[in-house]
Amino acid sequence: MTESVDILLRGGTVVTMNEKFDVFEDGAVAIRGDSIIAVGPTDEIVRAYRAEEEIDCPDTVIMPGLVNAHTHIPMTLMRGLNDDLRLDVWLGYLMPVEREFVTPEFVKLGARVACAEMIRSGVTSFADMFYYEESIAEQVAEIGMRALLGQTILVFPAPDAETFEDALVLCRRFIKRWNGHPLIQPAVAPHAWYTATPELLLACADLARAFDVPLHTHVSETKLEADNSVNQNHMSVVAWLEQHGILDTKLLAAHCVHIDEQDMFSLRRIGAGVAHCPSSNLKLASGIAPVAQMLKLGLKVGVGTDGPASNNDLDMVEEMRLASFIAKVAAQNPTVLPARQTLEIATISGARAIHMGHLTGSLEPGKRADIAVRDMTGIHNQPHFHNHPDAVYSRIVYSSKSYDVAHVLCNGRWLMRDRVLLTVDEAAARADAIEVAKKIDAFVMEREASPYNKLVLLSGVQRLESFEVQVKAPLDDDEIVHRTLKSDAIQVMRVGHYRQYDHYFLFDSGDPDAARLRYREDEFINEAGEVTQVRARLTLIGEGEREEFPNAVMLSRSRFLATADRSLRFYQEYFAPARELRVHKDRYRWHILYKATDFAINLDRVLEPELPGYFLEIKARTWSRTDAERKAVLITELLGQFGLDLSQAERREYAEIALSANAEKSPAL
Ligand SMILES: [Zn+2]
Repeated sequence: MTESVDILLRGGTVVTMNEKFDVFEDGAVAIRGDSIIAVGPTDEIVRAYRAEEEIDCPDTVIMPGLVNAHTHIPMTLMRGLNDDLRLDVWLGYLMPVEREFVTPEFVKLGARVACAEMIRSGVTSFADMFYYEESIAEQVAEIGMRALLGQTILVFPAPDAETFEDALVLCRRFIKRWNGHPLIQPAVAPHAWYTATPELLLACADLARAFDVPLHTHVSETKLEADNSVNQNHMSVVAWLEQHGILDTKLLAAHCVHIDEQDMFSLRRIGAGVAHCPSSNLKLASGIAPVAQMLKLGLKVGVGTDGPASNNDLDMVEEMRLASFIAKVAAQNPTVLPARQTLEIATISGARAIHMGHLTGSLEPGKRADIAVRDMTGIHNQPHFHNHPDAVYSRIVYSSKSYDVAHVLCNGRWLMRDRVLLTVDEAAARADAIEVAKKIDAFVMEREASPYNKLVLLSGVQRLESFEVQVKAPLDDDEIVHRTLKSDAIQVMRVGHYRQYDHYFLFDSGDPDAARLRYREDEFINEAGEVTQVRARLTLIGEGEREEFPNAVMLSRSRFLATADRSLRFYQEYFAPARELRVHKDRYRWHILYKATDFAINLDRVLEPELPGYFLEIKARTWSRTDAERKAVLITELLGQFGLDLSQAERREYAEIALSANAEKSPAL
């Protein structure tokens, strides 16, 4: 008696990845509906089953579909947009593009491109995290892949949610609609602890628990992140997540590069999955995750490509190969992460990591029919040895290529037959992606055209317009300044002492609004000479912003001010100026009243480049030409009080003085 099934794959090497790692050299798989009915030697299976569709698979490996345990699939459309940057600078570039372009249609197209690429490399399941995850779910379900889809939640405005409360509402709706779907498992995805508040983390954990769905988040990806957690939270990232309920969920923790054994015990105790992303960690120089140790402790480790903007592909064959290689290097031990164990983390262990181990990841009766058939006849994979049972794993992990995949089934449905994709129109997806890239290119080129545009996109800069009248004059001796400030004509309101570290970024952009950008760090010094506070600001300075009054008093305008909440290094890499210039000053500043008018008196010593003597500056804010003219007269009087006259005035700004001082020191050849 033969039983009827729908599909029979026969005559290939069946690599089951079941508990016993059974391999059938001449094996077969019987499929009915969405499930695997039987797996075994071909002669046994064909005796017991008959199918409408019987596929001969000579010289192939029939194996479970690979599991991509962490990715952001719509980022296929930003592949190669910005490379070779640090994570923060890269995000600085990327986030404005996301805000401008990411829509439901965008994520669906990105998903089509990504699914096509993944199916081609034999992937049948993946874990995603992005915006508009509901639209991604519709697209992925239509294509027929299995996925854990996490709706992103962060404190910042996102393309699909102005606030994190909105994102939570969206996520709840997404879960309600898709929970229980045969292919799609909705999940809650707080992006990371550092883009969340404690309140947000608690709310995400509550939501995941309420619906008993997984929670997908980034954990300890970079050393900086891990250090920041210790500095800010006085504990590791994992401990911080534990304190905020995240470890009470079915957790999928992406990266885990910088975690210690204590963290690993915590993750193991709650059955968390870890998505190891070797390419991304190498490309962004994040480090090497201690995968061998995690596996030794029995953690559920999977392999992920991460988003295609930080990899830059979704090639899981390459990814598992790298996972093995970097684990060996990290341990300085080639026996670490051997081929069989590597395939395990890319299949069944990965399935467990994304909380789908009961459905997929191995070829066993009762599991869903998620299967990839790899052609093993390629010249890059010759010859084959049979003296060792693990040789087949070596061929798959170390020699096979993603393009060796001939057929793919997911949930019993054909996604690829003889290398032809059946559920995605690959040519149309490619053409549409090219069109989107043109629009992104135009947007980026406009941004790149001017430092001002870059500044606006980065920080939503305040358009503070301020006019000042001022005069500057060199002084040999500061004694006269202190003496004059004690005179009856002048009333000192306040005095401050700073060290000012100015970094000028000089541009050749030809944009008259943005000749240079000044990053200024003010160190506030108290009477004991200690630094009490540090403040950083950005000011964009245009050309032709200065005008000389007939009496050498300058009228200047500075327009664009922003609080500099990132590091100098970030701005250097983000703005990539043509040249840089440093000016360090020691500054005393008095706010005074003279003839019932406010003035600021600066007494500056320029320390870099080192200049002799002092500079005295007298400044006043102004708001009209009449007011400016009146104050110019008062400034001329004040200058006289300090024993100076306008013929001694220095018309150049500090940046210009520094430029010529530097040029004198090292004249151009
Ligand atoms: Zn990621």
